[in-house]
Amino acid sequence: MQGDPEGLSPLAQRLVAGDKRALARGISLVEDDDPRGWELVRDLYPQTGRAAIVGFTGAPGAGKSTLIGALIAHLRARERATVGVLSIDPSSPFRGGAVLGDRIRLSEHFLDPGVFIRSMATRGALGGLAEASLQAALLMDASGRDYVLLETVGVGQAEVDIIDHADTVVLVLIPGSGDSVQALKAGVMEIPDVIVVNKADHPMTDTLVRQIRSTLSLAPQRGWRVPIVKTEAVRGDGVDKLVDVLARHRSWIAEAGDLDERRRRNLMNEVLALAAARLRAALAAAVHDDPEAGDLLDAVVARRLDPASAARAMLARCPAFDLSFADADPQFADRP
Ligand code: GDP
Repeated sequence: MQGDPEGLSPLAQRLVAGDKRALARGISLVEDDDPRGWELVRDLYPQTGRAAIVGFTGAPGAGKSTLIGALIAHLRARERATVGVLSIDPSSPFRGGAVLGDRIRLSEHFLDPGVFIRSMATRGALGGLAEASLQAALLMDASGRDYVLLETVGVGQAEVDIIDHADTVVLVLIPGSGDSVQALKAGVMEIPDVIVVNKADHPMTDTLVRQIRSTLSLAPQRGWRVPIVKTEAVRGDGVDKLVDVLARHRSWIAEAGDLDERRRRNLMNEVLALAAARLRAALAAAVHDDPEAGDLLDAVVARRLDPASAARAMLARCPAFDLSFADADPQFADRP
């Protein structure tokens, strides 16, 4: 059935055909941790891997949304490309749709059938926000988008590593944002693939560019020289340059074989994260129902047993716990 559009569910078929409402429905299922969402991703996964996935990160107010808006306008007008945008805001209590204030900046694109925009803020019960976002990005990819743009709020938020799933990571900085350069210098923040200095209308722009250059010169060279692109997103200035740089990076990683390696590493992390989330949930459920596990926890609370010993004892009981998953694919499950 996999890879055969004939065997796909009606929702999956509509999604693959590029229907925006089907895509929205699929993402809602994933966001709600509905098993039908996981099934959808499972069935459509063979259709993914074609989109160029670009992640944007940078402090709030750096102009990421404005830049993405300008980028969409450029990609639509000049390249006739289709675009999916996923904004991830771990700090927002809202879910689904266009609740975030800054989404208004993208509103002119909402009606364009070639553009799909979605915000995600809630944490799916199973793997958390990062996993739910990745599933959503996969659905966007399966829906035939040429570009999938991921945007996260905040810099260096280890919690949300969806940006790691991008083929190209763009860090957006603005003049006067010395903190980010410090974070780069201190190695707190990973070196991105592309640095955008937005709000290039600011008089300190060239100072920031020089600071970034000298910081990058200290970083280990990986064969790809991180380009610094000056933009003025509100006017769309520099966006054509950014599009060129993105294309150049993509062909560079494709040629260097880095794209496959990157995707492999990211997907491996993803599989481990999902497996760990499932194990944790299963373990928590098992502990909840297991009197002996309860005794272990009581012993820790009473300070008769230290937490590490209790964890070891609990893991030793693991085979007794049922860690098989009802919805696991029988092909991959090691027990019936
Ligand atoms: P985000 O939080 O990173 O998504 O930032 P926004 O896209 O919401 O932009 C924050 C503010 O910066 C908005 O008021 C934008 O209009 C403004 N802004 C964005 N790009 C530029 C620019 O190139 N120059 C100037 N002067 N302001 C900009």
